[in-house]
Amino acid sequence: MSRAAGFAADMWLAEREGPAGLARRRRRRLAALLSHARTASPFYRHRYRHLPATDVRLTDVPPTSKPELMAEFDDWVTDPAVTRASVEAFVADPGRIGQPFTGGAFVCTSSGSTGHPGLFVHDARAVAVYWANPLVRGYGQWLGMRDLADLLRRGAREAQVIGTSGHFGGMAWAERARRRSGTSRRALGVFSADSSLRGLDRALTTFAPAVLAGYPTALDLLAAEQNEGRLNLDLLLVATSGETASPRLQRRLADAFGCIVRESYACSEALFLAHSCAVGWLHLSSDWYVLEPVGRDGSPTPAGRWSDTVLLTNLANRLQPVIRYDLGDSVCFRPDPCPCGSPLPALRVAGRSAETLVLADAVGRPVPVIPLVLSAAVDAVPGALLTQIAQTGADRLAVRFGTEPGADDATVWTRLQGRLGAALTGLGLENVVVTRDPTPPEALGPSGKFRRIAPGHYSQVFRL
Ligand SMILES: [Zn+2]
Repeated sequence: MSRAAGFAADMWLAEREGPAGLARRRRRRLAALLSHARTASPFYRHRYRHLPATDVRLTDVPPTSKPELMAEFDDWVTDPAVTRASVEAFVADPGRIGQPFTGGAFVCTSSGSTGHPGLFVHDARAVAVYWANPLVRGYGQWLGMRDLADLLRRGAREAQVIGTSGHFGGMAWAERARRRSGTSRRALGVFSADSSLRGLDRALTTFAPAVLAGYPTALDLLAAEQNEGRLNLDLLLVATSGETASPRLQRRLADAFGCIVRESYACSEALFLAHSCAVGWLHLSSDWYVLEPVGRDGSPTPAGRWSDTVLLTNLANRLQPVIRYDLGDSVCFRPDPCPCGSPLPALRVAGRSAETLVLADAVGRPVPVIPLVLSAAVDAVPGALLTQIAQTGADRLAVRFGTEPGADDATVWTRLQGRLGAALTGLGLENVVVTRDPTPPEALGPSGKFRRIAPGHYSQVFRL
């Protein structure tokens, strides 16, 4: 049995064993992760020097954050052969998106919801867990036997509409999957979310997927195309990820495509944390991940209340240990068992919602622009920090940003203008004026999250 098949079988069994079986696995994996981090990561060895040698409670472990870990990247990772310089060289090459890194590792980048750049390296064991997880807890539960048989009969064809212009988690993972075999390459189609709608309609019609996956705002535009008759997809499943899909948006997708709509919650630090169930709750894979909802002061947030942020511990990846890591998302755990019957903890996630902007082209026609297109453009700019974009007129965008230490402000701005200009030109919006707002970017809300892309003026953004 392959490693991924072994993990899949264990996930299936863990769920059958219920909360006690999940907790037993979690405890064992946490002890092994803490021990490995203390032995092999100079960062954690120093950080944990005051903790007892064994029987450490997770709540006694000091939390970490992305800026702090990124600043000590070479001391954070547990394999000295993996250096920040080597990972940066890897992600600088778009030809290597999804290629296995040293030792079969998976690499992706993110600025995430906190606006700080991150480089993530997942070892081969974690990769095997990430293969198994969506099969057992996503597709395996979302589709009944009949739909699964139908999916296979149709070549398991899945179209992903995602950001394709960098080593982003979704894109890198899709490319990694496509590299597995010729069958995988034929079954999984990757479509750039920043293509024109007409181009997307044509490409998706030709590909004829049974599953449509991607950012909800991108899929929402396609739902309108389906309603207008410009697209005629016959789908078994719509799977959203990357942003929170509101119940209204999910209903629009279900009505347009006439199939079930499900959601997964993932991040660059831990792929496929949770999958949604038939009654609309996300279920955390609590045998492999720990999520601790906390307040601004770090105190635990009780179930039934929205947290200020959430601390993530990824028990699958030992190469770059993510332990009590401030993810920045506000979550709310369900206090009672979910009516769907799953023993996995049920939660909802806020703060990842995004709104589509509508910009006017040179002749005044409205062009919808999904936030992903703009955020992907600015994410690719080295040296930029906390970039925020607001629509300030029918054909105007304003940009606020900070710079990383050592980066030249004027150079970063020139690059930002160039990237945004290219993305807008790709949408037929070369007339849109992008100006700089010299005000430093501001955080929003108690956990320091901010909305990166917003329709309307900053004043509206910051009141949210
Ligand atoms: Zn449920």
